[in-house]
Amino acid sequence: MTQLRIGAAVAARIEETYEPNFRAAKFFPDWDEAVAKEHAAWLAPDHYDPGSGLLKLSVHSWLLTINGKRILIDACVGNHKPREKRPFWHMMNTPYLERLAAAGAKPEQIDMVMCTHLHVDHIGWNTRLENGRWVPTFPNARYVWSREDFEHYLAIDRDPEKGPANLGSFRDSVLPVVEAGLAQMVSGAAALDESLSVAPAPGHTPGTIAIKFESRGEKALFCGDILHHALQVYHPEWNSFACADAQNARASRRKALEDCAAGALLMPAHFGAPFVCRIEAKGGGFRPRF
Ligand SMILES: [Zn+2]
Repeated sequence: MTQLRIGAAVAARIEETYEPNFRAAKFFPDWDEAVAKEHAAWLAPDHYDPGSGLLKLSVHSWLLTINGKRILIDACVGNHKPREKRPFWHMMNTPYLERLAAAGAKPEQIDMVMCTHLHVDHIGWNTRLENGRWVPTFPNARYVWSREDFEHYLAIDRDPEKGPANLGSFRDSVLPVVEAGLAQMVSGAAALDESLSVAPAPGHTPGTIAIKFESRGEKALFCGDILHHALQVYHPEWNSFACADAQNARASRRKALEDCAAGALLMPAHFGAPFVCRIEAKGGGFRPRF
């Protein structure tokens, strides 16, 4: 298990999956084989599988423990959820909760769940199946996400032509949390406590938030899908197929990289091993330091 100290906190990576999954050339419309060759020395085997052309993207949460409080950042895909259109996420059954327990947190001990955005692979464990119903997995947590994403996907979900939103995940992984009264939606920049804050980082989705953590002078930035893959550190102009607004996505990515070059540790949601990196500014661009 990847575990690291950030100031007074311990961050633990809770893995759901870590396998070659998305085809690189489809995932990044700007994918360039020459770039893959240039970076071949570090890309394989942790970040890219050159044989198959598949990106190796991790799906994990970060468990942040500080002063006895437990905060879960991004909630993966979840178990038993029908996702026919994304076969490798369909009806998953992983020992995610066992891994969370091994890291020191039972579901009822989670104080806060934070979703960087409301896509299917960041909200799944918000709920679990109990007697045929989707109920909050973390009954004592407040769940934090942006009001902008919620309103955006609510409108899509209610539209008979466009819904259900996000492969059905809005209905089984977001609405039950709201109905249980556990959602705390934030709008704009907001401080959640003395060490956690959020800042709007729109582009990948309209309401994506960057989650910022600071303790004892050490900083970390949980970037969700502002960046998916370490190659985007070298190529911040590369958007994924899933980025809703190309221009804003690029601007938010560059802003996150600048924040990290100024000292924040980058805590990605999908980078391959070792899953965390520092960012160096170099020659007008950036490079990851694992
Ligand atoms: Zn994602």
